[in-house]
Amino acid sequence: MALSLFGIIALVLILARAIAELLLSRLNERHVRAHTSEVPPAFREMIDDTTYRRSVDYTLAKSRFGDVVTVYDTALLILILFTGVLPWAFGKFTAAFGTSVWAMAGFLFAAGVALSIISLPFAWYAQFKLEDRFGFNTTTIKTWVLDRLKGLLLAVLLGFPLLVLVLKLIEWTGPNWWIWAALLVIAFQLLVMLIAPAMIMPLFNKFTPLPEGSTLRERLFALARRTDFPTRSIEVMDGSKRSHHSNAFFTGFGRFRKIVLFDTLVAQLAEPELESVLAHEIGHYKKRHVVKLLGVSIIGVFIGFAAIAWLARQEWFYRAFGFEYHAGFAAANIVPVMLLFALLTETISFWFSPLLHVWSRRFEYEADAFARVTMGDAQPLIQALRKLTERNLSNLTPHPFYSSFYYSHPTLFERERALQSS
Ligand SMILES: [Zn+2]
Repeated sequence: MALSLFGIIALVLILARAIAELLLSRLNERHVRAHTSEVPPAFREMIDDTTYRRSVDYTLAKSRFGDVVTVYDTALLILILFTGVLPWAFGKFTAAFGTSVWAMAGFLFAAGVALSIISLPFAWYAQFKLEDRFGFNTTTIKTWVLDRLKGLLLAVLLGFPLLVLVLKLIEWTGPNWWIWAALLVIAFQLLVMLIAPAMIMPLFNKFTPLPEGSTLRERLFALARRTDFPTRSIEVMDGSKRSHHSNAFFTGFGRFRKIVLFDTLVAQLAEPELESVLAHEIGHYKKRHVVKLLGVSIIGVFIGFAAIAWLARQEWFYRAFGFEYHAGFAAANIVPVMLLFALLTETISFWFSPLLHVWSRRFEYEADAFARVTMGDAQPLIQALRKLTERNLSNLTPHPFYSSFYYSHPTLFERERALQSS
């Protein structure tokens, strides 16, 4: 098919992002290689030579794998968008199943499933080759397959009805459909956040309350009381079922809130360090970061739907990707735009990631400062961060450009400096 002007612009944007990603990764690799000969002075007391070399190898291996994925994804996206396969599939689908809301939701759902199947080999390689080579993988094939099947089941039970409702809203509410659709999606997100700790997360992991009377439990509950952080339970999650990587988070809200520690984290850190990690997590809550992030995601949903509604009135947008344009508020007119928007959105959002990261890093510094004040000392958190960086073989020397695009957290060095400076 011949490219229209907007088609050319879209192609340029897709290529620009891919080239930027490959350049950033090259820049980062060079930066890491420049420091391979010895452990950088700032980290000498926390990491030995062998572990440092492994962290460099891990970083480079992930980087090379990332490059392959970038090239593959970009080539695939260009093929999907510009060979006419989408309008062809859409035509076949509507000829077979009609243009009812159910059929249109079915089309979007089938497209989503097809795209995730295409990326399965890479997910498999990352888990069973890359992570395995560096001793992180503990996932069995059975767990991996079951995870995917459970994900699909959740998509059928939750995602599909949501799609049907969004498309129904187009026919029910006409020109303002996108406002109603955004409100519906936001309500749905809040509902999922509410039910996830009790109904979704247990499908994937086992959660065990810290044993009654253990010193760790007492220490962490004392911290929760001291910081006036209402929580009913502190639970340990069997993260080791999938990987040796470690983490901590809290989830749910109101009286459904619970604090979750990975078993791998509990195994790696001493009690004061675990307390400081929890204090950091509580800091996110106390500084209202959770509410602010939620606010941004709500704005994001509105912008997304407004963009879809606007594009759905632009004939050139349909034509650029080989679709026929029909005006009017019917699901079948807007579904192609939804699919194209989903495919193209990261091409644009990629360029905004440094901005978002500046913001999320400020939150990390604030949570770190909260932990320091709460603990009365920066040392436990510094020790915890050092251990986690070492165990996870994190890159100690990322290039600043690279980290600005990909890191939502400041680097270890930056966090230590901030913790020690006040
Ligand atoms: Zn944090």
